[in-house]
Amino acid sequence: MKRVVIIGGGIAGLAAAYSLREHRKPSDNDFEIVLIEKKATLGGNIRTEKEKGFLIEGGPDCFLSEKPWAMELCKRIGLEGDLLNTNEADRKTFVLSGGKLHELPEGVILMIPTRIMPLATSSLISIPGKIRMAMEMFIPKKKDREDETLGSFVRRRLGQETLDKIAEPLVAGVHAGDPETMSVRASFPKFVQLEEEHGSLIKGMLKRMELMKKTRKAPAPGTPPRKKVTMFLTLKGGLSDLVNTLTVRIEGFGNTRIRKGLAIKSVHKNGTGYELAFEGGEPPLHADAVVVAAPAYAASSLLSGLDKALSEKLLTIPYVSTATVSIAFRKKDVRHPLNGFGFVVPRTENRKIMAATWTSVKFSYRAPEDSVLIRCFVGGAKNMELVSLNDEEMIKMVRDELRDIMGIDAEPVLARVFRWVNSMPQYTVGHEERIAAIEEMVSRHHGLYVTGSAYHGIGISDSVRNGEVIAKKILHQLSD
Ligand SMILES: Cc1cc2nc3c(=O)[nH]c(=O)nc-3n(C[C@H](O)[C@H](O)[C@H](O)COP(=O)(O)OP(=O)(O)OC[C@H]3O[C@@H](n4cnc5c(N)ncnc54)[C@H](O)[C@@H]3O)c2cc1C
Repeated sequence: MKRVVIIGGGIAGLAAAYSLREHRKPSDNDFEIVLIEKKATLGGNIRTEKEKGFLIEGGPDCFLSEKPWAMELCKRIGLEGDLLNTNEADRKTFVLSGGKLHELPEGVILMIPTRIMPLATSSLISIPGKIRMAMEMFIPKKKDREDETLGSFVRRRLGQETLDKIAEPLVAGVHAGDPETMSVRASFPKFVQLEEEHGSLIKGMLKRMELMKKTRKAPAPGTPPRKKVTMFLTLKGGLSDLVNTLTVRIEGFGNTRIRKGLAIKSVHKNGTGYELAFEGGEPPLHADAVVVAAPAYAASSLLSGLDKALSEKLLTIPYVSTATVSIAFRKKDVRHPLNGFGFVVPRTENRKIMAATWTSVKFSYRAPEDSVLIRCFVGGAKNMELVSLNDEEMIKMVRDELRDIMGIDAEPVLARVFRWVNSMPQYTVGHEERIAAIEEMVSRHHGLYVTGSAYHGIGISDSVRNGEVIAKKILHQLSD
């Protein structure tokens, strides 16, 4: 029987394993799947912990519904009833500017203004900055299709102030990245598309919104109203429920094994397939197809004996380190109204945290009634050295920041630090060409595949989709 080995039990590896079974036709030959995960736990960056009535997400805390693959997967494995919307009544984001929190004007979608009044009355952007934003509609579109940094794109279209106060901190909050090195084409392809198709981000966004309104069909009489889905979704019991349920489903299929606490050291060609060597004393494993669903630098090391040029190319995808600090207080000790989902911190403010989510406001079921839970982001491209602070130093630093920014000086009832070393791939300028070259090199090795957040999208939903795409390719290979 043929064997598929998946290296890495993050969400991409798990989605690939599940999809291989889900899409196998009864007429296909059966094959064995072995998924190998280095750590003692599955899920990679996804890690939910429960303590003293709090639900703490150490890594990701939600996924985008606009990219439907994670949501659809949840539905298919029986978690539809657990999907949890954000608490929309409090959907506001704040930006730290001049040491004070200012509301991100309503109607600003990512960084594109779509409503006049909230922008006109906003205390975040100066009058010249607002005029410059509005002028975006008259800025001619770029003539060539060359990639450029997000920084250069935003400066060109919306001006320096939008870059400093909106784009840079939002991007740092999501990608932990630096807009002066990030590729706009790879990280925000929609922005590029809006410019190319409509000549302006504002005009394009307004047109899209109008079109969406028109095409939103009125429900047929008698049909129950569709359940509203917010932009960000999570699971009531935390994102580890996705990992755990997926694991149970995968293990429920025949000929499928998950092995934890074992690392693959190298992948070599062996006849028509591959030989995989383990770290430690395990005997090597033969595979007809290999999916490397580990970070790109780990893939580089695993494949160095198989293909030196591919290994070197994989190493050109940079990663940054981050940490999250979840900190809880008694509600009565916090004077701040917590009237939003949290705030982001522009680099120009020279603070130590990148962003903070007011977790217990954003999602229900995260904290006991009498408490609030806040999650701060540390490190990233701009402050990577802070990730190496010890727990005590990091918690003190975060408390100092929350005291200055939100006026919270109470004793926390809980504080938890999670470090994510080299965990955020950075899509720097030229990323698309780099990935095309990697994929071309991988395709020269029949039965070898790479997947995960390093290649075609950094979020959970993209990782699910990428794992599923690889599964389809393997099914095709095995049916040959
Ligand atoms: C702090 C933080 C917050 C985030 N927030 C969000 C969010 O809110 N929403 C969102 O959509 N995304 C978020 N992300 C991104 C999201 O976590 C990733 O997109 C996703 O988890 C990547 O999954 P993956 O399977 O590609 O990689 P990983 O989760 O990195 O999994 C790779 C796995 O491979 C294993 N491995 C490595 N080497 C070997 C080896 N030699 N042998 C065997 N196994 C090996 C690793 O141990 C790991 O388990 C966040 C990331 C971080 C770090």
